[in-house]
Amino acid sequence: MKTAVVTGASKGLGLEWCRQLAAMNYRVILTARDAEKASQAAAKIEAREVHPYPLEVTREDQIAGMAGWIGQQFGQVDLLVNNAGINPKDYPDQSRMAKAFYLKDLDPEEMMEVFRVNSLAPLLMTKHLRPLLNKSDRPVVLSISSWLGSVSSLSFGGHYGYVGSKNLLNVLNRSMAFELREEGIICVTVNPGWVQTDMGGSRARFTTSQSVSNLITQVVDRLTLADSGRFINYDGTDHPW
Ligand code: NDP
Repeated sequence: MKTAVVTGASKGLGLEWCRQLAAMNYRVILTARDAEKASQAAAKIEAREVHPYPLEVTREDQIAGMAGWIGQQFGQVDLLVNNAGINPKDYPDQSRMAKAFYLKDLDPEEMMEVFRVNSLAPLLMTKHLRPLLNKSDRPVVLSISSWLGSVSSLSFGGHYGYVGSKNLLNVLNRSMAFELREEGIICVTVNPGWVQTDMGGSRARFTTSQSVSNLITQVVDRLTLADSGRFINYDGTDHPW
């Protein structure tokens, strides 16, 4: 049985990743920063091998603790889905929303927090799960980026934290892919499309089910080491950098 770890799985795309991977007979480590939310999310999936685990992705001590626990319990990791993400526009407090959008109110601390969650955490996760990924015969690290992380596609201003964080994630992943190539670890970033979640809103093009299904059939199922370092669209094509 293959083992997958998914971050930010209390809801939205993360929860759907867990649901579809469990249906594909993966053992799933469903992580969420709140222990109760992790358990509640796991209870929504009808599969025996879904294991909730509390994980705040900016806390390296928690990541290291989780890696130790997975090592003891299951011995290896085959797929890491770095899904947890924040977009400051989602703050319910509208004054914070304005800060996140425009230069005049740019808040450096807030930007750094977005970078910590969206850009740095996927590297920390890979750093600590690396020995367990190395036990797999086809280890994959898939980090959820966004079309907003593409320099050449960008056609509007603002959103500095989110745009910068996903662009940084793309380049950090590419660098990590080169470092881990010799070990056979496949590292890619993906654009899931515009998806109906709390972050994407109800007008989005795809349901979570469609988005994850696209990414599994068009990306995860087809990945080889030659793909490592790519920024891939939900239809399997190269996303423009
Ligand atoms: P949601 O806001 O619905 O879910 C985000 C998830 O990330 C939640 O489970 C949230 O947990 C978790 N999370 C946030 N911060 C942390 C943290 N510090 N530690 C652990 N978990 C955390 O968003 P989506 O499902 O839409 O987004 C999933 C990913 O897809 C993100 O990386 C996002 O940037 C990306 N994406 C989404 C698009 C869309 O259209 N929806 C488009 C492009 C990319 P909690 O419940 O505790 O807040």
